[in-house]
Amino acid sequence: MDLADIANPRALARAVHRQIGPLSGPIAVKEIALALDIEEVREEEMDGCEGMLLTDRRRTRGKIAVNTRRGRQAARFGIGHELGHFLMERHELGLHGVLRCSLDDMRQARSLRKHRQQEVEANEFAIGLLAPDHALEPMLGADPEIEAAMELARSLDLSLEASTRCLVERHDEPLAAIWAKDGMIRYVIRGPSFPWITWSRGDRIPPLSLTRRHLAICGTGVSRMAEVAPAAWTKPDLPELFEQVRIGRDGHSLTLLWATLPEDSDGEE
Ligand SMILES: [Zn+2]
Repeated sequence: MDLADIANPRALARAVHRQIGPLSGPIAVKEIALALDIEEVREEEMDGCEGMLLTDRRRTRGKIAVNTRRGRQAARFGIGHELGHFLMERHELGLHGVLRCSLDDMRQARSLRKHRQQEVEANEFAIGLLAPDHALEPMLGADPEIEAAMELARSLDLSLEASTRCLVERHDEPLAAIWAKDGMIRYVIRGPSFPWITWSRGDRIPPLSLTRRHLAICGTGVSRMAEVAPAAWTKPDLPELFEQVRIGRDGHSLTLLWATLPEDSDGEE
């Protein structure tokens, strides 16, 4: 099958995996790019840009550059993201066939705007490439917990951010994750069946949350998953809401939310 015919980014990543055969451990993303008509992958310190693709409209060949300032795992994700733009030929290039991607682009999880939509697709491809389905099975088959995302991140050489995204977006249970720094929310992602979250970027971690209690005692490490008042984060009439938090030494926190939906909801409001 010709990869250029596949429109869905996850299906495209699966097709690449079918072509290269079963792999275990960290996916050799750079070697995969070089095998798919990318001539050069440069990893270097860059300012104001996380990744760059240089190619032509018909994608005869391409060059990728990624920023290394945020570490090896972010650079690996960046290579996957740029390779996604390269393989999805309908993605529009900028002037002179150059596509530049910002940190914000690499975090787009859903959007209706066209530029944003192609960033969402590049991210979906990157995650599908770096975290193939078979590697996710143990995590998706068990109760959700931050430790499982940490283990996945270690085994696949992914950032915790990327592995948590896999957990939240792919697990059958209604999940959400919130990243914060010094108690201020940086961003929020919700799985497909999680109800809305009252808070967003720039808000303080809500006072009724477990995360706030743990931040107040300056603890670091991973808490237990514990029940909290649903009103702390979302609509108050949810039957149950559970929360777990991982607090790093640098003021960064990651909160995982696990909701129980009403019996008759079936995804309806
Ligand atoms: Zn991009």
